[in-house]
Amino acid sequence: SVYVDYAATTPIDKEILETILSSSEYFGNPSSIHQEGKRAKAYFEKNRRNIASAIGAEPEEIIITSGATEANNMAIRGIAAGNDTPHIITTEIEHASVLSTIELLEQEGKCTVTYLSADESGLISPDELKSALTDKTVLVSIVLVNNETGVVQPMYDIQDVLSDHPAYLHVDAVQAVGHMEIDVNDLKIDFLSLSGHKIYGPKGIGALYHRSGIHLKALTTGGDQEKSRRAGTENIQWTEGLSLALTKVRDNLTERTLKEMQLKELFLTELTASEVPFEVNGDVNQMSSHIINLHFPWTASEFLLTALDMAGVYASGGSACHAGTVQPSHVIKAMYDDERAGHSIRFSFSHLMSEDDIKQIAASLKEIYTRLYESKMI
Ligand code: PMP
Repeated sequence: SVYVDYAATTPIDKEILETILSSSEYFGNPSSIHQEGKRAKAYFEKNRRNIASAIGAEPEEIIITSGATEANNMAIRGIAAGNDTPHIITTEIEHASVLSTIELLEQEGKCTVTYLSADESGLISPDELKSALTDKTVLVSIVLVNNETGVVQPMYDIQDVLSDHPAYLHVDAVQAVGHMEIDVNDLKIDFLSLSGHKIYGPKGIGALYHRSGIHLKALTTGGDQEKSRRAGTENIQWTEGLSLALTKVRDNLTERTLKEMQLKELFLTELTASEVPFEVNGDVNQMSSHIINLHFPWTASEFLLTALDMAGVYASGGSACHAGTVQPSHVIKAMYDDERAGHSIRFSFSHLMSEDDIKQIAASLKEIYTRLYESKMI
């Protein structure tokens, strides 16, 4: 079988798993004042420093979370709660953890919202952002690499628009980490979310970058862990895993992304040669190395995903976050229309894949297409 759904999640790296297991000797509660607690605290803080340095941040600017969903909620809800009648700007193509959170706050009357559109290239327009800004705008939340199309938003242009406005910029960088260099100062980001399980680290661990000096209302209250921004005993072992995953990303970035790019190109070449009709969703020249989303006008996504699954090819209809259902992608719908959203599939690659894997995916697609064609179903 071939797993080609690395944007949904990645397998944990064995070395990372072993390091996590061997770090179990640091079992003390970092808040305890005895030696065992202090040892655990020092170990935890070493990892926080490493996580911070991976994105050009200071250690106190990193809040360890249970993943990017929590990090996104923390930034959005925390900023909305700290302001009177806040206005938030986001996009129609965000991950559910951003979009649903903002929609819910809007329904509850806790903020007003402007949703920026994306065109057929998958890009939002900095001009549209500019005209959406008001004197009530407190937060702009934009995904850096879209998890369904892989399209990379024009962060420098976005930054330019925001340079003379006090609104904070929150960036969901979950799909960017591991596939491009990220520096929060270079990109002038105020909040950034990242997740461990997309970069061969453990599931259930992530971080929110929180620029120094910005008041953020805490979602969880209790102890004063994470400088009172997230109460609860620290997850020492998984944080070690996240930290090591980021180190490995930094050490292997060029090599990994080059391999992903080669695999993606080979896939498109093979598929074109096989004469299976398809179109790329979004601008292929503005994409991260690991994702491609294709429109297959001849069959519904759900049918194709099932047929691929039976052939041992594991791809995705878009976001895996809707509990096992195949819903037409809201991202493809925003860029194109309902029809296209219901006939599109995401393939996401990894440096762990081989050229044979790619050939098998293309061959399976060809086989499914031919079968449908010959039985006059298309
Ligand atoms: N944002 C994006 C862009 C994602 O792809 C994901 C994972 N599907 C998340 C947020 C949520 O991350 P986590 O699984 O760590 O909660």
